[in-house]
Amino acid sequence: MRGILFPGDRRVVVREFPDPVPGPRQVVVRMRVAAVCGSDLHGYRARAAERGAQAEIIPGHEPCGDVVAVGSEVHSVKVGDRVTVYHYLGCGHCRYCLAGFIQWCPERKGYGGAIHGSDADLLLTNEINCLPLPPGLSYIDGAFIACQASTAYSSLLKLEPSGRDTIAIFGLGPVGLCGVMMARAMGARVVGIDVVPERLELARRFGAEEVIPGDRADVVARLRDLTGGEGPRLAFETSGNALAHQNVIDALAKGGKGVFVGFGAHEKTVNLTAIIGKQLILMGSFVAPIYLYWDLVDFLLRHRLPLADLVTHRFALEEAEEALRLADTARTGKVIFEWP
Ligand SMILES: [Zn+2]
Ligand SMILES: [Zn+2]
Repeated sequence: MRGILFPGDRRVVVREFPDPVPGPRQVVVRMRVAAVCGSDLHGYRARAAERGAQAEIIPGHEPCGDVVAVGSEVHSVKVGDRVTVYHYLGCGHCRYCLAGFIQWCPERKGYGGAIHGSDADLLLTNEINCLPLPPGLSYIDGAFIACQASTAYSSLLKLEPSGRDTIAIFGLGPVGLCGVMMARAMGARVVGIDVVPERLELARRFGAEEVIPGDRADVVARLRDLTGGEGPRLAFETSGNALAHQNVIDALAKGGKGVFVGFGAHEKTVNLTAIIGKQLILMGSFVAPIYLYWDLVDFLLRHRLPLADLVTHRFALEEAEEALRLADTARTGKVIFEWP
């Protein structure tokens, strides 16, 4: 099979690897769609000297495809099944695995981190990680479910948006735009904030009632103006930008709730006084637990969210260099690899 590697310094190479052979409870999935994630860019941009053993690990953790081989003890999936793949492998029996939070398993292995990921023709996974894709959902939907859509969904469930709420969504990359669609479907009024004009336009198209350029000094004042002076009751922060972190805290209404998924800001800028005085409820969110899968599938089918419309660029695997170069500009929608 072919897979890509990031040797560092924004280089991409396509290389031949041996085809994976499934163990007794393992499954091999032939990729049909594998999406590029913002988090893949960390490895792509890293200096070659920092890459170490990671330079030999195939990146990618947003897979969707067809089962092509199963081990002797696999019973719940069969060759030909369409599946998306939960992107952490766990031990299967610790307290976190049993609760569905495989990303907290002490023995976890993440695709594109400890083990070969989805930017390849074939992916080796465990039977329990294979999540069946219902007929109403596409391979692109499945790739979104693997990371971005489930991240947005599990974050919004912590905020419980409804028709009573205005929600400010900071950062309108694919996770933020999934959040726009979903918060709107849950009934909330959405205000989108980003520094990239193209992304503000996308947010409007997918349901944001108002948008605010994120580099303006008056983001907080604009949010207050749009909410009768009170500020939004809810905020979803996906950018990882330190200014956005502070804007969330400053803009939220008294008693408001915010959830943060954007890593990246390391400055300690948090205004604790505002958090205490306004009695804010602030939460972190990360990879969705695997148990949310069926709930998310029902939600996507019921609301027919056009996740595929978030895809702006499609590439074959051999065009990976160009795909990553474009994704690196951070001006695109979703960039995907596609197989016929
Ligand atoms: Zn991802
Ligand atoms: Zn475990």
